[in-house]
Amino acid sequence: MSPSSDSELSRLIEAAIRVTENAYIPYSHYPVGAALQAADGRVFTGCNVENASYPATICAERTALVKAVSEGARQFTTLVVATRDGGSPCGICRQMLSEFGVDVRVVLITLEGRIIHDTTLAALLPLNFTNDSLNLPDNGTR
Ligand SMILES: [Zn+2]
Repeated sequence: MSPSSDSELSRLIEAAIRVTENAYIPYSHYPVGAALQAADGRVFTGCNVENASYPATICAERTALVKAVSEGARQFTTLVVATRDGGSPCGICRQMLSEFGVDVRVVLITLEGRIIHDTTLAALLPLNFTNDSLNLPDNGTR
């Protein structure tokens, strides 16, 4: 992990807050914005997009991640998530992000840009399930 500099973090914070304006949240009314910085410096943003079929909803963090991966990014340094209360990424998002490594700084902020938590994905998701488990020598025999 190469932690973002102060100016990079400021840019990510601004981007995460800005993208909450695009959140499609007719059900929860809980806007979330995410800004994910790739190792190559690119920043991918995402907001939550809800659906009348609730499970079809996608979180801001995964929106940012799938945008990044679809644009060829596979390594990430920093994730900033903006919510009104500094809310933390859900378990599904933690697991999906961990697919690309847990050495990612995670900064949780309010919509006013106040930092509530400055942590790592590794701290948020200990003992994450990895593809190591899928590569067991006897995989597929039971
Ligand atoms: Zn989530």
